[in-house]
Amino acid sequence: MNYISTRGGMAPIGFQDAIMTGLAPDGGLLLPESLPNIEDKLGEWAKLSYTELAFEVIRLFATDVPDGDLKKLIDDSYATFNHPEVAPSVEVGDFQILELFHGPTLAFKDVALQFLGNLFGYILEQRGGRLNILGATSGDTGSAAIHGVRGKPNINIFIMHPEGRTSPLQEKQMTSVLDANVFNLAVDGSFDDCQNIMKTTFGDVAFKTEHALGSVNSVNWARVLAQTVYYFYSAFRAMEKTGAASVRFSVPTGNFGDILAGYLAQRMGLPISKLILATNENDILSRFFNSGVYGKAAAVPTISPSMDIQVASNFERYLYYKVGRDADQLVGLMNDFSAKGALSVELNENGVVDDLFVAGKGDTAATLATIKRYKDEHGYVLDPHTAVGVWVAENFPSADAPTICLATAHPAKFTQAIIDATGEAVHHPTLDALADAETRCDAIANDVELVKQYLVEHI
Ligand SMILES: *Cc1c(COP(=O)(O)O)cnc(C)c1O
Repeated sequence: MNYISTRGGMAPIGFQDAIMTGLAPDGGLLLPESLPNIEDKLGEWAKLSYTELAFEVIRLFATDVPDGDLKKLIDDSYATFNHPEVAPSVEVGDFQILELFHGPTLAFKDVALQFLGNLFGYILEQRGGRLNILGATSGDTGSAAIHGVRGKPNINIFIMHPEGRTSPLQEKQMTSVLDANVFNLAVDGSFDDCQNIMKTTFGDVAFKTEHALGSVNSVNWARVLAQTVYYFYSAFRAMEKTGAASVRFSVPTGNFGDILAGYLAQRMGLPISKLILATNENDILSRFFNSGVYGKAAAVPTISPSMDIQVASNFERYLYYKVGRDADQLVGLMNDFSAKGALSVELNENGVVDDLFVAGKGDTAATLATIKRYKDEHGYVLDPHTAVGVWVAENFPSADAPTICLATAHPAKFTQAIIDATGEAVHHPTLDALADAETRCDAIANDVELVKQYLVEHI
């Protein structure tokens, strides 16, 4: 399987190259040349364990990784999860809650980043060379990335976070990792400052090449690919349980990474009748699916911070399919967006962008009320991101197909919101153990040159 750019300006490359490249040189995102149709495999796949299924799905795309190696990569990646099913579903009220938070940092990003970390290690071992990952985080991504590559030979990871502006728990999840290849930088500035430092550093192509800098951001194809697996796995479980012939998914989203994986699973032939897209007050994506206009607005901080995103980095991949895989048309739309801060597509005969999607927004009040109601009525505590998805799903009920709500984080990660909603905290042993953990972190000024100097000294 080869990979092309959404913007049409790149000769096709193989899977391993696609993973190491991240972003296409023409500024586009990488996608497989074609999507395999798996309809005739569904019956067999429904019998597989999570890791067996991951192997069957991923091998269709990772055609330059030998089967035996891929199997080991997958087994290693999910052995770090503390649930035998990796991604179990539990029935809560009208919904199947798909728990994606049994990995080392208790958020769904582990599903992709445990795999990506191992894949990077594998590719470097094959090819020689090293990789120095530089990233900026406001919370979940940084810790999942750190836990994905900790202790791996040939890889260093440098993660910047805004000093004092990440939740204390999230900060500890990063700074308590003491492996020699992990560097936490507390930047005297905001998350935007951290991101600017990262962009400027990557923009210095000579520096980037000399120091083998790489990134783990959510546009890496391996992340999307690893996430498609739990759509298949949970759909099989829900169809077995209910006898239904199709399923619906509700996905709390920010960067459109998680829900894109569901969209691709549907395009491959998994019977998904609806994708319910749920945002918080940062609602660029839900506005798009309801109006056809994708327009930037100011970001507001919410109690579901991992979805506080103005520009969804994976949206371009959806748009590429939406315009019939026409790279020229896509480039035109992306140019509109950079020039005017908005792009628009025509609505279909039903007055929506795409019949597969419905979209809605859950604000802070709705999120807190949903957390409280699920605890009172079902004894189940939702994290604030998951609660947004559940609340939006309640507004689109269905009698025909079960609805699977993606639970993207363990509630114990967002203590304050849970206390505000229910009056009491929830605990998780992994997080409780951090209380007395030793930490390592270097403070640094908000200055690109100082960060570059730090990299050079520590690589
Ligand atoms: C990252 C994240 C999301 C949003 O995922 P996207 O792929 O950006 O849509 C939702 N919930 C949690 C807990 C996250 O960490």
